Amino acid sequence: MQLPDSILTCIRALEEAGFQAYVVGGCVRDACLGLAPHDYDMCTSALPEETEAVFAGYRLVLAGKKHGTVGVVMDGEVVEITTFRTEGDYLDNRHPEWVEFVTDIEKDLARRDFTVNAMAYSPTRGFADPFGGREDLKNGILRAVGDPAKRFQEDSLRILRGVRFAVRFGFAVEENTLAAMDSQAHLMDNLARERVYDELCKLLPRMKATDLLEFAPVLCRVIPELKPMVGYDQKNRHHIHDLYTHTALVVHHCPNDLALRWAALLHDIGKPQVMILGEDGQAHYHGHAAVSAEMADGVLRRLKAPTALREQVVTLIAKHMMLPQPEKKYLRRHLGKLGAETMENLLTLQEADTHATGTTHDMELTLFSNVRAILSEIQAENTCLALKDLALNGHDLMALGYQGKAIGLELNRLLNLVLEEQCENTREALTAALEKET
Ligand code: ATP
Ligand code: MG
Repeated sequence: MQLPDSILTCIRALEEAGFQAYVVGGCVRDACLGLAPHDYDMCTSALPEETEAVFAGYRLVLAGKKHGTVGVVMDGEVVEITTFRTEGDYLDNRHPEWVEFVTDIEKDLARRDFTVNAMAYSPTRGFADPFGGREDLKNGILRAVGDPAKRFQEDSLRILRGVRFAVRFGFAVEENTLAAMDSQAHLMDNLARERVYDELCKLLPRMKATDLLEFAPVLCRVIPELKPMVGYDQKNRHHIHDLYTHTALVVHHCPNDLALRWAALLHDIGKPQVMILGEDGQAHYHGHAAVSAEMADGVLRRLKAPTALREQVVTLIAKHMMLPQPEKKYLRRHLGKLGAETMENLLTLQEADTHATGTTHDMELTLFSNVRAILSEIQAENTCLALKDLALNGHDLMALGYQGKAIGLELNRLLNLVLEEQCENTREALTAALEKET
């Protein structure tokens, strides 16, 4: 395993002072998989104050010292070095009762969540891998360290972490670990919502449709609004999939944009509530976009999502049933109102939604390519789409003698003329249009 010079320097310094030192956790896992680790965590038998003494000549970050972590600034980057430790019982499914520093690395590895995350490596000592992490990596298996149910009872965030690692590396979750993910899922109710939200944000952009199906019990526990969709027969000739499978496919077909993926996941959550069965045996879902948008707002508020993301998601869901018209005036208006990014995301969501019905005809997909072509024409023309793009502004109108409300009214009237292609967006043409009116 290749290590950066800064890490080798740290390991050497600790070993020369008589301590054991390793890189540990995610970086060992990633390196064994042939992936470039995004950072290196270190662990050592040295107590925090001993680590501090070894690196006395360096700038140190001591914020985590109480928990055993000393940060050493090497080549402008902080290397985190944590003392081997074990943990006592967890009484609240979140925090250990006590933490104790130890000198045996195996004890430290035993407190870690999954075998593939419970490995350490040192250039002089080789691998410490007491739970068969390398073997599991080779076989593509995600397995909890020790008794899975007990480990998830200690900290139920591990369930979501487990889903994330399984999805990220395409690993199969070992049988007992998977069973415990489901049987202990209720413990995630005790987690801080922000932690759940953070994990979901790391997870969602990576999920394929099959992942959403496989881990439905876990997802439904943290977002109970998803549950009525599982196995829900849409009773509609345009849909061949149940509602949850359809949703999984929409997520799958959306690129890795966070807002888009959240919107895909929640875009139809209101459907079961608004369903009306027609006389022809077909189900109708009038108003489901608005109801889903409102429910999505509730889900994201509860998870304490940032306002900007929540608003984007709610907008996308609220508008997802309004299919665009392949027409310049219409699209120019919408581009002006929504902005290019939202417009693009909305199209992507709608296209994914159309695909995921399972009954898509080429004609429907042609609509999206036509709309995209017209949109790029509009953007290339660099035309006026909103008040801010108008060649006359409020100050100009004031100079022409307009006052108060009349300014806004006139500007909007001019914008409409331009959008309707009845007036060019130049000072002369707009001024002439003003005078025509007065
Ligand atoms: P990533 O590449 O996503 O950062 P990682 O494995 O480095 O993956 P971190 O959250 O950075 O994950 O944690 C570092 C290590 O600490 C993990 O590899 C694991 O050994 C341990 N760990 C982290 N969180 C937990 C937890 N909740 N329970 C047990 N061990 C954990
Ligand atoms: Mg990490």
